Amino acid sequence: MRTIERYKLINPGDKILIAVSGGKDSLVLLHILSELRKKYNFYLKGVTIDLGIGDYSKRYIEKVEENYEELKVEYEIVNVKDEIGLTISDAVKGIRRRAPCSICGTIKRYVLNKVAYEWKFDKLATGHNLDDILSVLLRSYVRGDYQQALKLYPLLPGRDKLVTKIRPLAETPESDIALYGKIKGINFLEEKCPYSVNSKGLVHREMLDILERESPSSKLSMLRSFYNVYMPALESYYSEKSAELKYCKYCGMPASDDTCSVCKIVARVRKY
Ligand code: SF4
Ligand code: ZN
Repeated sequence: MRTIERYKLINPGDKILIAVSGGKDSLVLLHILSELRKKYNFYLKGVTIDLGIGDYSKRYIEKVEENYEELKVEYEIVNVKDEIGLTISDAVKGIRRRAPCSICGTIKRYVLNKVAYEWKFDKLATGHNLDDILSVLLRSYVRGDYQQALKLYPLLPGRDKLVTKIRPLAETPESDIALYGKIKGINFLEEKCPYSVNSKGLVHREMLDILERESPSSKLSMLRSFYNVYMPALESYYSEKSAELKYCKYCGMPASDDTCSVCKIVARVRKY
């Protein structure tokens, strides 16, 4: 509630679509937003993507359905193959040189934005937590990709075909989410995705954990100083350079050049 109010994430009457994966973060967020529906007066619907990652997909879909039904939240399961013509397994096999999570992340962001736009939702809520955001921030520092860092605010306003994104757990450490899930007895999938094994983000998370152990509250203070000090400076720097929003010539969705990153993935896999 503190994060929702501090960053004005929810307005009365909002139509909010929540992306639920079956892991603890998104399921904890589903339980919290479902509980807050009356207090903040908004409509909530869930969406889960069937990524087509073998039996793992079946198992997390079962879990999310149990939770949606327990909470009486309307939901839809969207099949990634129906949306882009490929499963995540097809894409990962077709593009060996790129990390599976990077391919999957690009595709998930695209599909979630597309359905939220087509279903006319005001906002798309995701379960990204403090540790997720800081690990992306650290990676963007290392790569010098500061424009990426500008997308890490709890509220990312939309425009045209880009739906507004909200991250109500942005200031909540992963350990608190795990504890909340345990206390509330939330039934989530403990099994890890088969592609998560060599995920690069793990090293950055370990570094952040060391920092937090040595100096408690470092994580939150790092995030707040980024939001309050660095972000405004970066915003004014990039606003002078930012280009007009372009649209993909194949699918019509927003893109940074004339072909969006998902249509590029599809073309590489199909070897156009
Ligand atoms: Fe996708 Fe990686 Fe998450 Fe698996 S672990 S669902 S490949 S982002
Ligand atoms: Zn496209």
